[in-house]
Amino acid sequence: MHDDRTLVEARLRRVLEERIRPAVYPESVPLRVGMWMAPDEPVPVAEGLAAARRPIAVGDAWGPPWTTCWFTVRGRVPEEWAGRTVEALLDLGFDAGMPGFQCEGLVYRPDGTPVKGLHPDNQWVRIAGPAAGGEEVLLHVEAAANPVVMGHHPFAPTPLGAKETAGTGPLYRLNRMDLAVLDTTVWELVRDLEVLGELMAELPADGARRWDVLRAVERALDAVDLQDVNGSAAAARAELAGVLAAPAAPSAHRISAVGHAHIDSAWLWPLRETVRKVARTAANMTALLAEEPDFVYAMSQAQQYAWLKEHRPEVFAKVREAVAAGRFVPAGGMWVESDTNMPGSEAMARQFVYGKRFFLEEFGLESREVWLPDTFGFAAGLPQIVRAAGARWLLTQKISWSQVNTFPHHTFWWEGIDGTRIFTHFPPVDTYNCAIRGRELAHAARTFREKGAARHSLAPSGWGDGGGGTTREMVARAARVRDLEGSPVVRWEKPEEFFARAEAEYPQAPVWVGELYLELHRGTLTSQARTKQGNRRCENLLREAELWSATAAVRAGLPYPYEELDRIWKTVLLHQFHDILPGSSIAWVHREAERTYAALTEELAGLIGRALRALAGDASAATEVVFNAAPHERAGVPAGGGAPAPAAGPGGCRAAAREGGGYVLDNGLLAVAVDGRGLVVSVRAAADGREAVAPGAAANLLQLHPDFPNMWDAWDVDRFYRSTATDLTAVDELAVAEESAQAVSVRVARSFGASSVVQTLTLTAGSPRLDIATEVDWHETEKFLKLAFPLDVHAERYASETQFGHLHRPTHTNTSWEAAKFEACNHRFVRLSEPGWGVALVTASTYGHDVTRDVRPADRGTTTTLRASLLRAPRFPDPETDQGVHTFRHALVPAADIGDAVREGYRINLPERRVPGDAVVAPLVAVDAPAVVVSAVKLADDGSGDVVVRLYESLGGRAEGRLSASFAFGEALVCDLLERPVAEEPSPARAGDGVVHLRLRPFQLVTLRLVRAGAAA
Ligand SMILES: [Zn+2]
Repeated sequence: MHDDRTLVEARLRRVLEERIRPAVYPESVPLRVGMWMAPDEPVPVAEGLAAARRPIAVGDAWGPPWTTCWFTVRGRVPEEWAGRTVEALLDLGFDAGMPGFQCEGLVYRPDGTPVKGLHPDNQWVRIAGPAAGGEEVLLHVEAAANPVVMGHHPFAPTPLGAKETAGTGPLYRLNRMDLAVLDTTVWELVRDLEVLGELMAELPADGARRWDVLRAVERALDAVDLQDVNGSAAAARAELAGVLAAPAAPSAHRISAVGHAHIDSAWLWPLRETVRKVARTAANMTALLAEEPDFVYAMSQAQQYAWLKEHRPEVFAKVREAVAAGRFVPAGGMWVESDTNMPGSEAMARQFVYGKRFFLEEFGLESREVWLPDTFGFAAGLPQIVRAAGARWLLTQKISWSQVNTFPHHTFWWEGIDGTRIFTHFPPVDTYNCAIRGRELAHAARTFREKGAARHSLAPSGWGDGGGGTTREMVARAARVRDLEGSPVVRWEKPEEFFARAEAEYPQAPVWVGELYLELHRGTLTSQARTKQGNRRCENLLREAELWSATAAVRAGLPYPYEELDRIWKTVLLHQFHDILPGSSIAWVHREAERTYAALTEELAGLIGRALRALAGDASAATEVVFNAAPHERAGVPAGGGAPAPAAGPGGCRAAAREGGGYVLDNGLLAVAVDGRGLVVSVRAAADGREAVAPGAAANLLQLHPDFPNMWDAWDVDRFYRSTATDLTAVDELAVAEESAQAVSVRVARSFGASSVVQTLTLTAGSPRLDIATEVDWHETEKFLKLAFPLDVHAERYASETQFGHLHRPTHTNTSWEAAKFEACNHRFVRLSEPGWGVALVTASTYGHDVTRDVRPADRGTTTTLRASLLRAPRFPDPETDQGVHTFRHALVPAADIGDAVREGYRINLPERRVPGDAVVAPLVAVDAPAVVVSAVKLADDGSGDVVVRLYESLGGRAEGRLSASFAFGEALVCDLLERPVAEEPSPARAGDGVVHLRLRPFQLVTLRLVRAGAAA
């Protein structure tokens, strides 16, 4: 036979696009349209429905950026359409781009009940099927003129990301607004041809199946009367029935399609718009579930359900019904799909506590999977937290975005720092926006790395990022690949159905130990410093507010602020969303986050102050009580307790002029030499006299790099940024700023580019660290500012803190895997060490850092350079990212073992507080094992008055010790993160003799509930 394959394929493309698709709606009549533009922010639905409309015609412009326009469409179904399926087609002026990144609408009935959402791939509203003829049509559309922020040149700076700068010109032109007849046979023919055409393209050209499909398609095209597509569609379909009925091979890959819309809780739109995005998508999905009995939809992020409940209760009621029917699945069990690199230990735990509790309280359901398709890497502390929350599976797609290395597994056991393993799946479909296309399905089957050992993968299916969800077209395509020769087998399933089967099928899955590092988006550890510092500050204040409020409740009967803490936690957790905390959102989102953090800071300070005043005793006393919220004793004040301020000791701090310029600071524990350039050229601990700074090098060195990544400006820093660096050594001013027996400091001022920086280097009496406060007035663009510490340490690897412990990363770049980790995350400390000696850098301000090594030719010693990442200045999506004044706090701790690093890390984050008073405040709980760190002390969320204590082994070894309480308690229950008792063997904690005996594995996390009889507050 002659080979005419490409001819038939080209014919299919043209006939499908130019003749068959246009015949889906063969007849239409225009609707009359009126419009009202809300003056500023979105208005309540009732107000939008009631506002007077003015006429607007198809082709007219509407919608200045970020405005809301309410459209009303009216019409009448023609009598002659009786018996036909009739839909309204409402094209707000959509372009061909992705749903969720442009204008969107939510359709309401006249009584205000939401019908469904509108987006480019979903412009229809079913009016009648079949129509009686003569029906009056009246619908309202709440249309959001969301600008296309990521446009044609996706990373060009744009003013559209803030209302103040976005301009006032309309963005969209009203397009088709019609009533139309839907020809369901033609619609089905389109789906047949899509599925077969796409399948064909993936099949081997020398295989019989491809040719079977090709010939059937050819016969179908022959059967189409191009002058009467509607009249001939049924005959064309009949030609395809045979190839569509051929069953899949027994070895076919099996895909669990999960209906989904990955909705970013804020990103290229503000939080308030996400509230409406969720409503549009959920309205669409409940409507689709009602029409499609096989379809299953999963939505993550308890916060998004909470928004629905508060702002669109009618949609929430439908969601609740569909959840009860087991079709709409609350997935993931987290408050939001957060970042996992930067959230602190407690916050990461609370993501699960608040997410799971919401699903339990609202739906009686508990997710066993963690759903984080889009998060930028996964911290090595996460598996244990997942397990402690009662979950066991993790799904993400994001690691496939890594620039350099291809991850070796799609399904595997992921092992965290403490040895906990969770069953993890990376969908080989390689997208969280699967549209059930032949190319996507074949890609999943082809690239699935577990072939031969496992057969199942998952495909999150539906328009995501900006929402939209699954479409009826996707569902129709899925129906055709349920059991189709040459295609993977596709079934709609819940995530847990997939995971249960995948785990049972593949218990011997390979193991990956340590963090799941994303080799991309490394700049997100630094971008939008104010957002990151707001998060850090609020995390620290929440620890204090819980600790002191619980202490004041138990000790002084002060009411515990359950409601306030609940609300503040949820707000902090929301802002850990994977485009807010990472700094990848528009200006609007970050300026709003800064205001929110400021308000939370004030409120938390109020809660803390109230509790401390209740504890401090006589406020008129001339004395002060010092409170220590850190988990280690400090200057005689116990961890978690308070004590009258001791009289100032002898101190012993002093500053002296340094030969050759600069100063030498000394506090009896450390001697620090600052040279005439304001750089630290020597740091020696008195205890061992060893020099920390590498010979010939200078620490506290600010380095400025150009930083213009190839893509994803706020997200990415590309490796080549390091090729060029400017050392900021020119000094405007160098002077002793403070000199007393208790503290001594020097001030260094510099200017560079359009910016300036003032640093204060301080030694305090009794403190074994050099504190460095850095205030930068930052007016650079596309630059990266680092603070460098070249240290005389021969370190093969180094430790950095993550949730409930620390991990090690190599300092070398032997393989592409290590080389790719050129920017990494730490929490409170990074520590470089060789046997018996180390240096820690602790911080209350930054997360990003890098560590490099050099060997000095002169003495063959190793210089290991640790650099904290202070500021970037990307111009997309926020063109003004990080402009203005920033303050950073770091401290260098020489001769630090890992325990010193842990302790100083807490201390710099939790400075002592002083309150007028005379009381001695015993801590609620005390632990006598130095390795065991208390992470939270709070009252139980159930209002019982029980005291909940979360603690962990912090050094990476085994720990035994006793926890004692300064209040009466009965049982000490080992609990999960949700404060529910769990049985663990061997139990890490047993009560006896009035104390709790602890025995912990390396990095083991334990939640204890100390039951107080009759204590309900
Ligand atoms: Zn996302």
